[in-house]
Amino acid sequence: TFCAVQAQAEVLRVGTEATYAPFEFMDDNVQPQGYDIDIINAVGKAMGYDVQVQNMAFDGLIPALMTSQIDVVIAAMTITEERAKRVDFTEPYYKSGLSILILEENKDKFKTIDDLKNERLCAQIGTTGALKAQEISGNVGAFNTEPEAFMELKAKGCAGVVNDRPVNLYFLTKSASKGVIEMSERITAEDYGIAVRKGNSELLKALNEGLKKIKESGEMAKIHQKWFSV
Ligand code: GLN
Repeated sequence: TFCAVQAQAEVLRVGTEATYAPFEFMDDNVQPQGYDIDIINAVGKAMGYDVQVQNMAFDGLIPALMTSQIDVVIAAMTITEERAKRVDFTEPYYKSGLSILILEENKDKFKTIDDLKNERLCAQIGTTGALKAQEISGNVGAFNTEPEAFMELKAKGCAGVVNDRPVNLYFLTKSASKGVIEMSERITAEDYGIAVRKGNSELLKALNEGLKKIKESGEMAKIHQKWFSV
């Protein structure tokens, strides 16, 4: 009899936080999907990995990586100096930055970021938005997920939500965002990176190579088109 010997693909245990559309969120079948999910699947395919995505709290991702519960984090995670002390990042794969959402009824009251300095601001725990909110007013309502921060704004529990601009813009296309607008003042430019355990240079190299491959093949542009074309 014929016996096929197949090489077993190495499993890549990927952690994400799937409440962050369009980068990662659960579809109707409670499967993670989004830009980041497509990117890591494409990179995994290019490099011969079997990608398995796990959902966890955003502020639990780096600890899970450091304790080897997962091997990779892809979660719209900004490459920061602070984080780079604890994990290693791939080359940037997405250009992002922060913006602030406010209620439309307050648009004359909050014209510039300075107008928010005595206001309560909302953000997601452990994010660059939360750090910026702390800097702006020092009065921060920190939530486990961004949808909770959006709800708090709508319930007038805070004056503004400080969050990644692409996620804010995606939210503004939804009916749930009625009465919410984006302040025109831009805050930061940030780069997203994929994180691995410090010193895991073999995996880091493979992921960078995978990113390069899907850039060159045009696949990355296709994924961008899929999630960010109007
Ligand atoms: N880019 C932001 C950060 O890295 C937010 C990420 C997120 O909420 N998933 O802190």
